[in-house]
Amino acid sequence: MVQHAERYRGRFAPSPSGPLHAGSLVAALGSYLDARAHQGEWFVRIEDIDPPREVPGAADTILRQLESHGLHWDGDVVWQSQQTPRYQRAIAELSTAQRCYHCDCTRAQIKRRGTNYDGHCRNRQLQDQYTAIRFLNTHPLQHFHDRFHGHIQCQPSATEDFILRRRDQLWAYQLAVVCDDRAAGVTDIVRGEDLLHASTWQLTLWQALNDIQFDAKTVPLPRLAHLPLVRGRDGRKLSKQNHAPALDAETALDNLMAAGRQLGLSRPETEGFIRVEEYLTWAIDTWRALKK
Ligand SMILES: [Zn+2]
Repeated sequence: MVQHAERYRGRFAPSPSGPLHAGSLVAALGSYLDARAHQGEWFVRIEDIDPPREVPGAADTILRQLESHGLHWDGDVVWQSQQTPRYQRAIAELSTAQRCYHCDCTRAQIKRRGTNYDGHCRNRQLQDQYTAIRFLNTHPLQHFHDRFHGHIQCQPSATEDFILRRRDQLWAYQLAVVCDDRAAGVTDIVRGEDLLHASTWQLTLWQALNDIQFDAKTVPLPRLAHLPLVRGRDGRKLSKQNHAPALDAETALDNLMAAGRQLGLSRPETEGFIRVEEYLTWAIDTWRALKK
């Protein structure tokens, strides 16, 4: 993997499908602390490319919640809904380089043929615009390194020709994330463990965009660090779908300390923190000592 000579650039990238809850605060805090512990920059990107799943007002709520928890970001917030030209360009250039193709297979058809997509449409030369677009995955990744998980062997799905643009014309998560992280020169991705295996496709696509010199540049592959997931009492991941309650700004300090404990940050409670900023300063120093 290419070594990063440049300054640490990290990000937190929530989707506006609801307000932040205890689980998403762990992801936000983990990426924030890692960036600040490395004297790096920390950006926020709103992943608003899936309108059916979005909740009106959620993006603004998330930004207010970050601020009330002292998690101040650098630069302007990036909205994925405004990056469409970049995604279109990526598809066009991958297409010119013959690294993607149209696919009209339905989920049921794919399932009937096996667990993973079998490349059925690779040589069919479909042109219909009402199809999905898949990445021609000729050099799938076998393994990668995660700072917290160590050596990761990729799952069988790593070899799949994954989707770049969905059949319903929405951009696939993988395409948007990689295009935007690469454009922002992100050096470090710190996020929840549920996205560990999505890294396989994302690194593969990142490399392919480097291969075709997308946006006329090569951007070193990012370092990865996946944080432990926060589970509710029932053992399920805390999520908006599982109706985890929204964070209350009134209890910001307590929320942060609880999230910090999930990340392995604790100390003898001989003296309490009074302000959010005070806690964050301590947490950054502690993170630096623990997670280098
Ligand atoms: Zn197909």
